[in-house]
Amino acid sequence: MIPVTKPFLPKIGEFEEYVNSIWERKWLTNNGPLVNELELKLKKYLNINHLLYVSNGTIALQFAIKALGLSGEILTTPFSFVATTNSIIWEGCTPVFVDIDAETFNIDPQKIEQAITPKTTAILATHVYGNPCNIEAIQEIADRHSLKVIYDAAHCFGTMYKNRSIFEYGDISTTSFHATKLFHTIEGGAVFTKNPELLKKMASMRNFGHDGPDSFSEVGINGKNCEFHAAMGLCNLKQIDEILDKRRLLSFYYWRKLSNLQAKYPKLNESLDYNYAYFPVLFDDEKLMHKCLKALENEKIYCRRYFYPSLSTLPFVSPSHMPICESVANRILCLPLYHTLTSSDLDLITRVILRAQNYDLPSENEVELNDGNNKLEFVQDLPGK
Ligand SMILES: *Cc1c(COP(=O)(O)O)cnc(C)c1O
Repeated sequence: MIPVTKPFLPKIGEFEEYVNSIWERKWLTNNGPLVNELELKLKKYLNINHLLYVSNGTIALQFAIKALGLSGEILTTPFSFVATTNSIIWEGCTPVFVDIDAETFNIDPQKIEQAITPKTTAILATHVYGNPCNIEAIQEIADRHSLKVIYDAAHCFGTMYKNRSIFEYGDISTTSFHATKLFHTIEGGAVFTKNPELLKKMASMRNFGHDGPDSFSEVGINGKNCEFHAAMGLCNLKQIDEILDKRRLLSFYYWRKLSNLQAKYPKLNESLDYNYAYFPVLFDDEKLMHKCLKALENEKIYCRRYFYPSLSTLPFVSPSHMPICESVANRILCLPLYHTLTSSDLDLITRVILRAQNYDLPSENEVELNDGNNKLEFVQDLPGK
């Protein structure tokens, strides 16, 4: 069986060492030493000064909306995970969808301005699959209309934009460290902002609104994370460069093996150091996508339709027609991508897809078909980035 993703797990002994230290201290949660250590090491790894480790990526979005004091309408993308829209509604605001760009699948800045009304207070955009939005265009529109910008950067761990962590952009960026993400702490997430006041506000919100043992500055909630999750993060952070490297090799291998497939891939931003968070394939039509999905499932290979359906069709939002998003959502499939996949797994997956569409296999001697991770090395110089 090949699932769409498998969580990375460190050596159990490494995790046990941290667990033993937790047992000795008997300090399980409430800003413990491992949570502090993880925050410090994340800052160092990402070369970023301000972040807060929180319980998940959804509450991170809620903190961002609440800390900015947003109300009214928030412009957002219909092509994302449902949490992006839910967090807006949960915080009492109204999501107003703006269609996506047909090449990048990110919110289309050219369509943002026509969606602005006197009630608009912010733009909440997702860097889909870890590929940055048009950050400059979005910021320029936001500045002109005095709107706040929040980025849902849940897919972005390890992505660099213009030599800085992608988490540095927008008024607030958020991410998820859920087990399905490439860097994970089982459950977890973070908020990032360069504004010290916002950071302080969110730190207080995360801890019931405490600003001292017996005083409360505002309405808070419980958005903390615990020592066990931080321990997983500390183990996984040691391995992150290897994880990122492996995903890059696997992606290049896919691109090469699927060179005869009539499909498109998202256009990656030019100023990008990419993290290869997903391997999305946009089929030419929906029928072909379903045919491949079925053929793969017959071989016990499971893909996911990230992101289907278009969030603009959710039963609890006011309906709006997003033609590009709906078309992409109907035809896209994310292929399996995780660190323990081998080139022979990829050979099988790509063979099933190509066969399902009656395309010829690339000739056997063009690409060496073999197993073992080290076989992936030869794909490094391939085009496609
Ligand atoms: C995973 C994800 C989230 C939610 O993160 P959780 O940690 O699972 O709450 C939000 N937005 C996007 C785009 C995601 O992929």
